[in-house]
Amino acid sequence: MKNLFSKKDIQKFILNYKKIGISKDLAERIYTSRLLGSNKKLVLHGGGNTSVKSNIKDIDGLNYNIIYVKGSGSDLGNIEPSGFPAVKIDPLLKIMKKKFITDEEMVSFVRKNLIDITSPNPSVETLVHAIIKEKFVDHTHSNAILEITDRPDGLKLCKNLFGLNFIIIPYVMPGYLLAKKVAELYKSGKNLHGLILFRHGIFTFGNTAQLSYDRMINAVNIAEKYLKLEEVKKLIKVKSKNIKFKNSEIANILKKEICRKRNYIINFRTNKSIISLINSKNIKKYLNKGVVTPDHVIRTKPRPIILNIDKCRTLKDINNKIHKEISLYKFEYVKYFNKYNNSKKSFKILDSIPQIIIIQNMGIFSVGRNFNEAIINGDISEMSIKTILRIEERSKFKSIQDKDIFDVEYWSLEQAKLNKVEKSLASKVILITGGAGTIGIATAKKFKENGAEVILIDKNKSALKTLVKKSHFKYYVCDVTNRKQFNKVAADICTNYGGIDIVVSNAGSAFQSAIGDISDDNLKNSFNINFFSHQIVASECVKIMKNQGLPSCLLFNVSKQAVNPGKNFGSYGTSKAALLALCKQYALEYGHYGIRSNGVNADRIKSGLLTSEMIKKRAKSRNVTKEDYIKSNLLNKEVFPSDVAEAFYHLAISEKTTAAIFTVDGGNIEASLR
Ligand code: ZN
Repeated sequence: MKNLFSKKDIQKFILNYKKIGISKDLAERIYTSRLLGSNKKLVLHGGGNTSVKSNIKDIDGLNYNIIYVKGSGSDLGNIEPSGFPAVKIDPLLKIMKKKFITDEEMVSFVRKNLIDITSPNPSVETLVHAIIKEKFVDHTHSNAILEITDRPDGLKLCKNLFGLNFIIIPYVMPGYLLAKKVAELYKSGKNLHGLILFRHGIFTFGNTAQLSYDRMINAVNIAEKYLKLEEVKKLIKVKSKNIKFKNSEIANILKKEICRKRNYIINFRTNKSIISLINSKNIKKYLNKGVVTPDHVIRTKPRPIILNIDKCRTLKDINNKIHKEISLYKFEYVKYFNKYNNSKKSFKILDSIPQIIIIQNMGIFSVGRNFNEAIINGDISEMSIKTILRIEERSKFKSIQDKDIFDVEYWSLEQAKLNKVEKSLASKVILITGGAGTIGIATAKKFKENGAEVILIDKNKSALKTLVKKSHFKYYVCDVTNRKQFNKVAADICTNYGGIDIVVSNAGSAFQSAIGDISDDNLKNSFNINFFSHQIVASECVKIMKNQGLPSCLLFNVSKQAVNPGKNFGSYGTSKAALLALCKQYALEYGHYGIRSNGVNADRIKSGLLTSEMIKKRAKSRNVTKEDYIKSNLLNKEVFPSDVAEAFYHLAISEKTTAAIFTVDGGNIEASLR
């Protein structure tokens, strides 16, 4: 592992942060934290933590000895000063004299001693950082170190390799107990470079940022050098086979099984090196032994599901196999929970679904409450599979005991997160066509605010790009009048998200002309975008929704023109009238699959479709001023894209409503449906 410390770079950090009033200590802390955090072999996604001891003048004018320690929610790779809450250190050392305190008491006590009470929660390992006398402390879950500790003879090996400069701490659960253990064994001295936390990770420390960082890299290099020289045996592989089923179809089946209780995002990943890893013949045996470091359990659950579908001939076979495996997994998980659940604490069981599903010859599916979480869980799983197999090539993988895994998985503070009220559309995958338009984007915002994973589709690439720059939505450039193009996009969404829960079929376009004068081409074009594109999107999506077997919803942007035609707007009105019929037809034919179909009839909303030029023309055709045209409704109020978004949202969450048309036009008795 390369040592990336640069005297020049750290000076730059010190100077730049000084300009915004950040101390040298903290600037140095940020610099080496980022070096550690950017190395995937040391930490992944928010893993690991670092600290520096310093002092600070509080608003009472007094100087306090403090420790800046990484707070929860930050990633070492891009950490900023706000990611390091400052805690008064002297009270922390006093609390170490207690025989025992609970983790809740520990967290509350640490919070009580924050300099700024609005800071994030300092790391659960804060007390370990505080006990160590050296100024800078670094903690990572280095793969190479885990490859040494996670074997039956790991302790002996650790002592041989690190015994001179490191204290080997036997496995203890992170939190107060670990801090007590470290307090008992740690004795500062210039030959002491750090602690090896058995089957967990490594701490290094030093009185300068550079020294602590150097010691981390050196220790990892000792481990890597040893691993390189070890004899490696080749693991037997299963026969490689091309699976004829699409991963998008398998994703839908998994979604059906996994999202019974609540929605999740399911992300699929594959490449040559992943296939080579997961095709190890005995992978089930290896991965069933547990986790490489306790921190991973909340990401991956204690074990994954490993499947081989090579012998499945039809999707139904796969369906049956997946159903059986997931049912068994849930059964085993409940058994594990019941075995270790301490009745006094009465923990609430987590959803018993697997978070990682490995399909040999195919790839890895990872499950998360949102897209980012699914990606993080997948990254962590991929890295941990790699580590476990590397150990199996050299020795045998040995994890901490199930009871210890359980204690971390059901750490009481993790439980608190379970009781959080979820947003109404949490983890739902929403597809919006015409996504770059004003109604499309207003709807996207509304759905995202309510927890949904929103994906925009539009054929206008540049409009999408500008939009995404501002609001970071995921998007696809696609012409929804082209079935092949849409099909590809829909499959890709299933591969990345697991499926589609709600579609807002919103693409549309208006042409003006008297109906008797309109050219056939114009009329056909109008039907193409205002009717056929909706049929393409809906028909492809219901196939996916049927495979998922979960409640889902089609939402159509119809138009008041469908029931109350305007002059010279025939090509638009007739195609929208057909769309209204289409919306009802889907409700009729797919209701028994749990697929709802609803529409919104909006009117007079300033947008790409109703431009000011168009407003002028429409106002003229009705003999009123532009302002009156926009506000000529029963409420005398202008209707905005956000009003339409509101209607789509309410139709999406109204679980017993189908075949409904929601009017958003400020009141127009001629356009009212009943
Ligand atoms: Zn750790």
